[in-house]
Amino acid sequence: MILLLTLISIGCGNFLGKVNNVETDYLRVFLFPHSHDDVGWVRTMMEYYKDQHGVKQIISSYMEQLIKDKSKHFSQVEIAFFSIWWNEQSDTMKEQVKQLVKNEQLEFLSGGWCMNDEATSYYEDIIDQMTLGHKFLLQHFNYIPSVGWQVDPFGHSNTQALFSNMMGFNAWFFGRIDQEDRSIRERKKELEFVIHPDTDQGHSILTHVNYYGYYSSPRGFDFDVTNPNRQQVTDSNLQSKTDELARYFNQQQNSYKGKILAHTLGMDFQWSDAASYFGQMDRVINKVNNNTEKYKMIIQYGTPKQYIQALYEQNITYPSQQEDFFPYADYPNQYWSGYFTSRSAFKGYVRRIGRYFQQVKLFYSFMKINNQCKSLCDETNLKNLAEALGTAQHHDAITGTAKQYVNNDYIKMIKTAYQEMNKQVSTLLNSLSNTQSITHSTCNFNGSNVCHSLFDPLIKNQTVILTVIDAKVNNDGIKEYLKIFVPDNLFIKALDEKDNLLNGEILCTNEQCILYLPRIVDNSKLIHFYKLQTVASQDDTDIIKIQPETITVDKDTKLFGKFKLNYNYYVSSSGAYIFRPDGQPHPYGNYIKAYNFTGSLVKQIYIEKSGIKAWVTTYDEDENIFYLDTFVDSINMSDYRGKEVILQVITDINNNKVFYTDSNGLSLQRRQVNHRDSWQMTVLEPVSGNYFPVNGAIMIKNENGNQACAVLNDRAQGGTSLNNGVIELMLQRRLNNDDNKGVYERLDEQEEVDKKKVGMRQMMSHTIVFYNPKSDSNILRQLQYQQDLKPLIYFSTQDQVEYKSLENKFEKFIEKQSDYNLCKFYIEPWLTENQYLVRVHNLREEGIQKLKFPAGLKFTETTLTGNQELKNWEQNRFIWTDTYTNQSSKQTYQEDQVGPMKIRTWIVTI
Ligand SMILES: [Zn+2]
Repeated sequence: MILLLTLISIGCGNFLGKVNNVETDYLRVFLFPHSHDDVGWVRTMMEYYKDQHGVKQIISSYMEQLIKDKSKHFSQVEIAFFSIWWNEQSDTMKEQVKQLVKNEQLEFLSGGWCMNDEATSYYEDIIDQMTLGHKFLLQHFNYIPSVGWQVDPFGHSNTQALFSNMMGFNAWFFGRIDQEDRSIRERKKELEFVIHPDTDQGHSILTHVNYYGYYSSPRGFDFDVTNPNRQQVTDSNLQSKTDELARYFNQQQNSYKGKILAHTLGMDFQWSDAASYFGQMDRVINKVNNNTEKYKMIIQYGTPKQYIQALYEQNITYPSQQEDFFPYADYPNQYWSGYFTSRSAFKGYVRRIGRYFQQVKLFYSFMKINNQCKSLCDETNLKNLAEALGTAQHHDAITGTAKQYVNNDYIKMIKTAYQEMNKQVSTLLNSLSNTQSITHSTCNFNGSNVCHSLFDPLIKNQTVILTVIDAKVNNDGIKEYLKIFVPDNLFIKALDEKDNLLNGEILCTNEQCILYLPRIVDNSKLIHFYKLQTVASQDDTDIIKIQPETITVDKDTKLFGKFKLNYNYYVSSSGAYIFRPDGQPHPYGNYIKAYNFTGSLVKQIYIEKSGIKAWVTTYDEDENIFYLDTFVDSINMSDYRGKEVILQVITDINNNKVFYTDSNGLSLQRRQVNHRDSWQMTVLEPVSGNYFPVNGAIMIKNENGNQACAVLNDRAQGGTSLNNGVIELMLQRRLNNDDNKGVYERLDEQEEVDKKKVGMRQMMSHTIVFYNPKSDSNILRQLQYQQDLKPLIYFSTQDQVEYKSLENKFEKFIEKQSDYNLCKFYIEPWLTENQYLVRVHNLREEGIQKLKFPAGLKFTETTLTGNQELKNWEQNRFIWTDTYTNQSSKQTYQEDQVGPMKIRTWIVTI
């Protein structure tokens, strides 16, 4: 009775804002007004921003309501959009918005540049796009996001869970999990649980799966102006609408353990008329709250942060979860495992520029630290590239699920930023060298790992300087190969910096010649160069041409006595998202010819089939590591049937339906055919239900665990092991169907060749390695390290060059411990002139990395994105109670150590 009086005396106007203080046993419902704003999908990012009812209008509209009424809340997610809006505002408006953040009416969820995909983005790219958004929030609001928001990505990875913890989130929300898994969880009240992404107890995170799997308003309560079926709340239906909403939440409560509930209020690009949305909803909420005796619930607008805080106070014991959430199926026959491979060329491009970005940040930072920049350093280029790559991680970008013209827009963004960045690198290289006005161009890799740009200068008998920026640390003495496309019938010599002749081998197939030039890594300095010149005869060079020998190869040929290589294809009615093959795969193309090259450095088997060319190369008599380059030609669609081309590596390894795939390039996840660890699955799609995302490697091993084969890829792809000893990866998809998930376009990428439209063609690379995981646990990571840190190569046509050396203040930071260092070092400029964000990633599966902090530099350890001190987060974080049995496994390392597979981040003041 007292409560009722209190409620009445507060009155409707202010009531919504005061419910926090009301002590009751009633069900408390938090509604989260939010707008899901894709940074491109069926329209480009800027179209979405500027459209009528677009993001610009959405943000302005909800801000106006929040300023007017303190009981209103809103959650903003994508900083890509928010930063554009912010830069258009007046100082008065900016001050008002800062106030909304301060009084927690406006919350930033996740706070990344976009809501990144979790299946096809690489871990470095995820870190970068989150860092970019967090840096913006830190600069403008001194705000640290504490809740992750991944409500739309099509499945969820353990690395995203791990990073959510490492970024200082107390919880994260998502929506899409397999429909079978969901219904079991609903029945068992297990839509909230604690994920343990690795064995380190310190990394667990509370996970909330949104009710009924998406992020919309309760059914019947979508009042947005853009919803053509929206209902109005009127005097005559107010009672029935109120009863309906109360029923809905009572039903929802059956699926969650807490006495409080969370529900989203919004959808894609909604809230452009926030006054009307809030107005309609207010009437229903007020009716519930003014009749608490009847409804036994209180509904309030709030933010996920407030909900998580309230949930934490309930001391619930949660179920625990170790398995990730791939592949996602929204209907029994619809596995979203096609997008693991969709737009393979784009995926390859984003990955390549992502790797480039890591190294160029380091080069730029070192130039800056060495005072070599002066007026030349312009951070805008780094920022533009960070933004373009950040946008590309979006769950409709890197996934390959945007419309073609939107995808073209992503490519344009990256390409423009990349070209501008390269101009700057050229300027910086000039300032470091004796020649001032030479253009250093980047090698055009034509989608492959072969430098194509030296062909013309060499034919013109010009001297070519190859400048190599190598950001590896402590790998002195290891050998790696540069691959350079060179003219046939010319003698070429290569010289190192001291004018020593270098040996090398040229292999030609179909009149296309590639020079394999070994280089010995020397990490004592960042920049190296090599000189290439044409010479009169073989006597003047140590580079020799290896002659091919014709051999016969078919599907049963064991290459190098080790493995068979099959290219097959599925016929399918798949779309950009869904993989739905029509039965078993068929052999792809007919065998045309094959050659064998036996050099003393390089051994290679070349296989040509209709539709496929493949080069299998091994270096320096290595019998266990094979580098495979595949050219996938235009896929024939004259029969109007979609086709998906796959690669199968067939080995003698008895893996008994178990295989491992990486999580965004990090830890390997155990997979078993037709099996999930945490729930019983019904096998309706025996192929696509067993496809998993592969971003770094897929591996099989025998039951003793002493024989393994892994295949590393150079971009995200779907993969599986359906048959014993067989590793399968999907290379390319050309499809004739749309899968009704909203994009309404067939995934039929085309390009023009000789004025004719053909299906998209491309080169891609894989590394196949055989090893003993027990005795050589790090070999896979070693190959990944070398692939990620392939040096940046620039070329210029000039006779001589000399580079000033750059002092490396971090030279001894990562202690040299063995011949193969697997520790990555990252550095980028931070908030103030002399601050840098520094990360170290120990890529070893086993083995601690020791650090030696350089004297004179101030290190402050932070969370993953550099936005708060690590100790601050560790002191204030929520520790959730759950059923995980390995509770004692919090791993601790010394101050000067980086544990295996761990990443540490610091702000360093120089
Ligand atoms: Zn989305």
